[in-house]
Amino acid sequence: MPGFWVVKFTGNSDFYRMKRLFLDFASTTPLHPEVEAVMLDTFRNYPGNPSSIHEDGRRARFLIEESREKIASLLHKEPSEIIFTSSATESINTVLKSWFMRNLPGTSRFLTSPAEHHATLHTLKYLKEKGASVQVIQPDSDGIVSVFPVDSDTLVSLMAVNNELGSLLPSETVSTAQKAGALVHIDAVQALGKIRLDPFLSADFLSFSGHKFYGPRGTGLLVAKNGSELDPLLHGGAQERNRRSGTEATALIAGLTRALELALNNQESAYSEVYGLNRYLRQTLTAQWPAVTFNSPETGSPFILNFTLSTDPEEEIDSEALIMGLDAKGISVSSGSACSSGSWEPSHVLTAIGKTPYEAQTTLRVSFGPGLSREDLDRFTDTLVSLLIRMKASKNLI
Ligand code: PLP
Repeated sequence: MPGFWVVKFTGNSDFYRMKRLFLDFASTTPLHPEVEAVMLDTFRNYPGNPSSIHEDGRRARFLIEESREKIASLLHKEPSEIIFTSSATESINTVLKSWFMRNLPGTSRFLTSPAEHHATLHTLKYLKEKGASVQVIQPDSDGIVSVFPVDSDTLVSLMAVNNELGSLLPSETVSTAQKAGALVHIDAVQALGKIRLDPFLSADFLSFSGHKFYGPRGTGLLVAKNGSELDPLLHGGAQERNRRSGTEATALIAGLTRALELALNNQESAYSEVYGLNRYLRQTLTAQWPAVTFNSPETGSPFILNFTLSTDPEEEIDSEALIMGLDAKGISVSSGSACSSGSWEPSHVLTAIGKTPYEAQTTLRVSFGPGLSREDLDRFTDTLVSLLIRMKASKNLI
């Protein structure tokens, strides 16, 4: 039921009444109105600390445990396997640092790819500096990490859906790695509510982020298989079965739970709607800017479309200028580069699949949500192409 989804920021803020066109759903998603309502109700009516033994505390505790049970049932897990965190970044840090602490320098082995999210890559860089051994498997030119030889006693950490390209992790990855005696952590942030999770649910650990599926920012989930060993990242009051200390954010947990229910219930209709939008944008871009090349594989998640606009450095096309030009026309998309220490660096994902720095510099990522129309995409394509023509004209190239 697409009408259910707030996707165009037509909500309360005057800012968003400017008819902005948001095409950056992989970076974050707006809060679903039902999630907002659940959270407001919980903020007002569940004031107790869930660890308190009085009535106010017990009511909050009950709501949290009920939420845990709902999430567990939706993900075909046991409630004891669900840990509430503040973000996927926290979930990922917990898993990787716990494995390091349990094995300690020299014996802690990791396997990952260079196209992972920085939450994984920067944590592993830090652990490597502390003595961990990190094996990095190259993805192919579509960003797909194929079945690999993997040693036992290794923690494999890979994304189910690449956040820049939409490439999918082959479905046999978890079972292949586990059969070889490895443990598997799946960063499923860009998968929930979008693609089938089944091939990944048997992983030893899974990380999710609430704000990627119309839930509140500041919420994450860590799913840890019963029997798996996990040291907490945060020590203190021993909440979450001593796996994540800190007073539980009752209202955020209630909102996250509603968002997860909605995302999984609406997944099929969202997928088919977005699939059509993705295919339409591929066609119209190719028709209006034939030099475009698509970096997102056709077999990937349709929620992400990554494309390069020029391979000729003479054209000096610059995605940052394009992003600003689109922004001035009320359109939000992402680019193929990132600001690091004040300078623009090509995206590590595009570099990993063999794009040159110039190609990365002329790359954009559009990410979709249900509720967008073909007219919205026409507005994007027309605006983009007129900016590109102006850029080329200013270099006397047309
Ligand atoms: N992993 C992936 C694939 C992501 O796309 C993101 C967010 O961009 C994260 C991890 C980090 O999520 P969070 O914002 O909840 O820390």
